[in-house]
Amino acid sequence: MTIFQKILDRQIPARIVAEDEHCLAFHDVNPQAPVHVLVIPKVAVRSLAEATDAGMLGQVMLMAARVARELGIEDSGYRVVLNTNGNAGQTVFHLHAHVLGGRVLTWPPG
Ligand code: 5GP
Repeated sequence: MTIFQKILDRQIPARIVAEDEHCLAFHDVNPQAPVHVLVIPKVAVRSLAEATDAGMLGQVMLMAARVARELGIEDSGYRVVLNTNGNAGQTVFHLHAHVLGGRVLTWPPG
């Protein structure tokens, strides 16, 4: 079981930002920007590479936009990232979108 499944199951705590029937959003424990929230689907899918449900992916994206709006970074701008497998640095194998904002984000990423 992944650490994110334990957060979903309320076995370990997280600073929850938003929740609906499809997704949970919570602050990253090691933030890389003033706003750094993770959005996860309630269904356990290892990564974007293994996702087949377009509806689920859409719900994750809509929740990312909602979080950005509600945390006040919609107008200043934000980035949504899905690290996928090794070279991208994925460490938790429960699909998740990072929502990053509150500062200027350089491009390309390192
Ligand atoms: P990845 O590297 O897989 O794209 O992102 C995993 C993210 O999960 C990292 O940014 C890491 O800081 C975060 N993370 C890992 N364990 C926990 C945890 O127990 N709680 C929370 N809130 N975030 C975590």
